Amino acid sequence: MAVSPGGKSSEAVAAGGAAPSGAGAPAARRHSRLTVLSGPSGVGKSTVAAELRRRHPDIWISVSVTTRKPRPGEVDGREYRFVDEREFDRLVTSGELLEWAEFAGNKYGTPREPVRRRIGQGLPTLLEIDLAGARQVRKSMEDAVLVFLAPPSWEELVRRLTGRGTESAEVIERRLDVAREELAAAGEFDHTLVNTSVEEVCRQMVTLINSYQ
Ligand code: 5GP
Repeated sequence: MAVSPGGKSSEAVAAGGAAPSGAGAPAARRHSRLTVLSGPSGVGKSTVAAELRRRHPDIWISVSVTTRKPRPGEVDGREYRFVDEREFDRLVTSGELLEWAEFAGNKYGTPREPVRRRIGQGLPTLLEIDLAGARQVRKSMEDAVLVFLAPPSWEELVRRLTGRGTESAEVIERRLDVAREELAAAGEFDHTLVNTSVEEVCRQMVTLINSYQ
């Protein structure tokens, strides 16, 4: 994976340097900690992200690039930036992605620079990405806060994945395989939220993000 540590060390130094305890400490603005929302496909991450975007425009949510084709209703530049393989590979090669992963036959990645800028400005910043991506962020940004969104039950996750009606049976089966592995990874995360209701998860996310600013 092409995860260059370019953004990391400067952020880690700036964020990790505790302010002098005495009076008269420089009023340098503290970098914010990146929050990452992850979890199995179909658990409702994108719904939570959309609701957060609607209710809390102060929380900036990264727009990923993907080689997946847009679903009905998706707008280029809003849910994703839709690119072809060639452009995606260029972004990887030039180190412009903070992390990237292949998921169910498509590639997804987080543009590095906008995230670096928001964090550098001390603004609440959120990624909504898959487990492989969350693991890369964990490695490259040690102070990132990793949040795992869990389904209320396995049956509910299967219902959500099969009920969306936009994917073929083969794609759903691949996503279920990935979801089984992803559920087992909850222990690697700093926090687990159970998606019983979008509103409740949003409230908990806002509390978490604010507590780490
Ligand atoms: P979907 O195709 O359903 O929109 O997304 C499929 C999966 O890709 C979801 O688990 C979603 O969280 C993940 N994903 C979206 N953007 C990114 C990204 O930039 N990086 C990574 N690693 N995963 C992403």
